[in-house]
Amino acid sequence: MKLPIVVVHGGATVFEKKHHDAILKAVKEAAEKGMCAFEKGGSALDAVEAAIWVLEETNLFTAGLGASKNLDGAIELDALIMDGNRLESGAVMAVRDIVHPISLARYVLERTSNSQIVGSGANKLYEQMLAEGYREGTSSKRTEGPFIAQNCDTVGAIAIDETGRIASAASTSGWPGKLPGRVGDSPIVGAGVYANDIAGASCTGKGEQILRITMGRMAVFHVEQGLSVQQAAETVMSELRQKTSGEAGLILADKLGNLAIQFDTPHMPVAVLSSDMEYVYCSMTPVWSIDQD
Ligand code: ASP
Repeated sequence: MKLPIVVVHGGATVFEKKHHDAILKAVKEAAEKGMCAFEKGGSALDAVEAAIWVLEETNLFTAGLGASKNLDGAIELDALIMDGNRLESGAVMAVRDIVHPISLARYVLERTSNSQIVGSGANKLYEQMLAEGYREGTSSKRTEGPFIAQNCDTVGAIAIDETGRIASAASTSGWPGKLPGRVGDSPIVGAGVYANDIAGASCTGKGEQILRITMGRMAVFHVEQGLSVQQAAETVMSELRQKTSGEAGLILADKLGNLAIQFDTPHMPVAVLSSDMEYVYCSMTPVWSIDQD
């Protein structure tokens, strides 16, 4: 695929058929917003942040406005954004009831000397971010369910700019009814998300299982070792199944724009946009790839 590219997913899960159209529209819009960021001269980080922001702004996913509650009835969100070339990331974990944790994660990356901020510290930083005008607050209001996905549908994205610089990201409220303070894989570097100057990955599935095999990092590592993105994605998916009995999904792309989409749940909505193709996908078919060579 011709660079730049933006790939967006809306979680490895099961969605009722009646919601498929709305979900596909959302992932497509998210990819378009990401591409728009590139067209305006933005970076890969701008593109993934813009794409995730769109998905957080809908109530279709267990992220942002659609977040689900923990065991105490509170909303706690996790997000991570990573710049592959700088090998730097920003993450927030168990931040309370904000709509766009991805922008706060970006703020952590760009405006602090830390990479992971949790709980009340993250909420305090959110107020600081708004006061500084780094990002605007949203007027969107949360509405109560009904939840569209079975279990959880974390959102994720990868963007690669014209020069091959990669950014990847994820945003989620995690597993519905989770223990207060529980943090999954999504905001953990190398587990839910990873990017370097070779490839980038964004994973989705049960965090407790993804963490055990550091799935994002391993997927990228296999590409560094010479596997194609498709082989690397298949390898980590099979390792997850064998070692943890987990079901999951991931998007994996390298700096040339080769892309693999892999999942073993019934659904994982995906939108792919590049300067030479557009693809929107939500299907029972578990394997899909685009290889340059
Ligand atoms: N990985 C997320 C978590 O465990 C859930 C998901 O991907 O849907 O928090």
